[in-house]
Amino acid sequence: MDLGYAGRVAVVTGGSSGIGLATARLLLAEGARVAICGRDAARLDAARHALDGDVLAHRCDVLDKAQVARFADAVAEWGGGALDLLVNNAGQGRVSTFADTSDEDWQEELRLKVFSQVLPIRAFLPLLAQAAHPAIVGVNSLLAVQPEPHMVCTSAARAAAQSLLKSLARELAPRIRVNAILLGLVDSGQWQRRFAARADTAETRDAWYARLAQEKGIPLGRLGEPEEAARAILFLGSPAAGYVTGASLEVSGGVSRHI
Ligand code: NDP
Repeated sequence: MDLGYAGRVAVVTGGSSGIGLATARLLLAEGARVAICGRDAARLDAARHALDGDVLAHRCDVLDKAQVARFADAVAEWGGGALDLLVNNAGQGRVSTFADTSDEDWQEELRLKVFSQVLPIRAFLPLLAQAAHPAIVGVNSLLAVQPEPHMVCTSAARAAAQSLLKSLARELAPRIRVNAILLGLVDSGQWQRRFAARADTAETRDAWYARLAQEKGIPLGRLGEPEEAARAILFLGSPAAGYVTGASLEVSGGVSRHI
């Protein structure tokens, strides 16, 4: 199936690691031009060198409105004034129960999950409006519809982001499609950091990941690979999904429990 990315321009926020980096790599392989952003200059630079193709790597915190505006300006100049795909992927999760989540943690988490969508979407809308078949894909979590007590504020904030994306699918129709992917556990920078910080340092990587998959009750018996999330993003963002908007695609190894 031709996803129709040849010569198209895409932005992937948080494209310097994990799922965002895998998404950038697959988009480039499909012939797209890709702009990525992240906060850490060294990580961004390493990603830039790891990617093969027409890449703009721009340092930008997606929660900083002025930085996001400058990123949009840079993409406009580099990309020729139109943007075909915006992948809002930047972010991370927070492990905490209600008892150990402060009011400040709540505010920070709600801000991250909501404004990592709001600010890039607002800044890139004029460029998306110039494209022939523009699309937005929000990278979200299964926690949006299946909250977990040990990630209480992330779950609530994910639900808010999901609601926003659903509303935007209507408000921006028929010109711009808006969809989401709902992730389970994907082996990326976040999990590699948690593995590095494991309590029992004698536990091997394979054993730690196998135990994690078992504890989480993942029917497919393993964590997902970043490329497996990226493929779902590429499909939803492509003209091949031209009649799909307001949808959410689960990439979770079957861990969801609702119908
Ligand atoms: P990684 O930690 O590997 O990648 C996160 C990326 O986001 C990095 O490039 C990071 O770069 C960037 N980033 C984080 N905060 C900001 C910010 N404020 N502004 C700009 N860039 C930022 O994690 P994943 O690939 O796993 O995460 C990708 C998305 O998927 C995240 O939104 C995450 O919450 C979500 N997700 C992941 C799951 C998983 O199991 N992996 C499960 C559910 C959701 P830098 O730090 O340099 O800014």
